[in-house]
Amino acid sequence: MATRKIAFYGKGGIGKSTTQQNTAAAMSHVYDKKVFIHGCDPKADSTRLILGGKPQDTVMDMLRDEGEENVTIEKVVKTGYSGIRCVESGGPEPGVGCAGRGVITAINMMEELGAYSPDLDFTFFDVLGDVVCGGFAMPMREGKAQEIYIVASGEMMAMYAANNIARGLLKYADQSGVRLGGIICNSRKVDGELDLMQEFTSRLGTKMIHFVPRDNMVQKAEFNKKSVIEYDAECNQAHEYSELARKIIENKDFVIPTPMSMDQLEQMVVSYGIPD
Ligand code: ADP
Ligand code: MG
Repeated sequence: MATRKIAFYGKGGIGKSTTQQNTAAAMSHVYDKKVFIHGCDPKADSTRLILGGKPQDTVMDMLRDEGEENVTIEKVVKTGYSGIRCVESGGPEPGVGCAGRGVITAINMMEELGAYSPDLDFTFFDVLGDVVCGGFAMPMREGKAQEIYIVASGEMMAMYAANNIARGLLKYADQSGVRLGGIICNSRKVDGELDLMQEFTSRLGTKMIHFVPRDNMVQKAEFNKKSVIEYDAECNQAHEYSELARKIIENKDFVIPTPMSMDQLEQMVVSYGIPD
């Protein structure tokens, strides 16, 4: 079986990096899958829960300090919890150069070095925020990731961002073959959130692949630099991430989304009542 290449998109702070690492941990620990995480956020915070906070040399740091010919897989790819392999693209020095370009450079370099080895079941690209332009759109634009999951919640801005990402995906679907695998609701405990997200996802022509509750276990595990599964495999939130992992593993519904207009989106939210 070929490696499935997945990227999570969604509004900044919605929980992409957290959800991705927790899902990857469950895929590996519970379902025995071989997983690679490529962090594409200049903050380089995509792999911290898997690596236990181990300091990591990013690809961009290594390029700057040692030159292209000295970048090796051994230097930039680190193995963490349950054998999950991790790399961070990193970014340019603040105010210098384009961070999106760094993402492209790092992904191409990992391909050339053979870091995405054929034994992998899943490679995750953890991208920055809801930017669907330039380098940050690259994983979907060039088909580096074939399978996209959008992380959203019942908050207006999260749905607005999700809808924009669906628009970007629609634009690239023909040329790159990229498809939407579903929307992950990372709950913000908005009134009527489950119903609202169910309608939102069906209007986008996709499904809510899982409703992840908001739970303080996430913060507790994060404080200990661990995924929830590593921190406490028996707790409810560990079970939720295992369910999300299982649903992604078993997923066969890959669609080209049908984004909404701004008017339609606003009308839909209003029809669910204004939260107090
Ligand atoms: P993003 O990568 O989308 O910018 P992060 O994954 O960094 O967002 O998440 C932001 C914060 O939200 C994290 O510090 C994390 O603790 C918190 N968080 C994410 N998902 C949950 C959840 N289901 N329950 C509680 N806290 C969460
Ligand atoms: Mg992130």
